[in-house]
Amino acid sequence: MDYAFIIDRNSPLSMWWGTYRGLEWEIRNWQRGTTYDGEPHEHWNYYVIFCQQQFTPEEWRGICLPIEGRGYRGSPNYRWSVSPVYDLPWHGGISFYRNVTGVDELAEKVKWGCDYGHDGDEQVHWSLDMVQYDLRATIDAACELYPRLRWRCPSCGEYETPDEALGFFARDGAWWEHYACAHDRQRERSAWAAEAGGA
Ligand SMILES: [Zn+2]
Repeated sequence: MDYAFIIDRNSPLSMWWGTYRGLEWEIRNWQRGTTYDGEPHEHWNYYVIFCQQQFTPEEWRGICLPIEGRGYRGSPNYRWSVSPVYDLPWHGGISFYRNVTGVDELAEKVKWGCDYGHDGDEQVHWSLDMVQYDLRATIDAACELYPRLRWRCPSCGEYETPDEALGFFARDGAWWEHYACAHDRQRERSAWAAEAGGA
């Protein structure tokens, strides 16, 4: 995981997000008062966000689902189980699918997720560490399913499958950049430092 933020410690919802092995993720923790025993009642979710540019068109057809009818107030229905993403090891199974950007089947980013606190795990006190552990396992399995997954170079914004010959990894496999982009940045920085030093 390369970064994580807490928006507000006192809010009923805390969120953390970042990227891991090239895939964006999000964790939510809803605080819902206390249980009968006076314990804090929390509800955890985690999500993985899939971006069209990271996949082949064929892979994307299995990730971004077609709409199969409309439900309450016109909300789209999807058949989650047709996707290979459905079979990844999600905590308790998939319970969430939604477009992040784009409209209907033309989505460019879709979000798959799952939640805690149902089907017999209500009595377990989950922690951020435990949820991150499960999230990593989901993303690790996604990376096996899509071994040619493209990462976004943080410098030039282009998507590419990380390759030793093209660039490098750092920090827990969480980050990748073209050598050329890293060198350009270094050169610009040196030029700027020289200029600033000479002024
Ligand atoms: Zn680049």
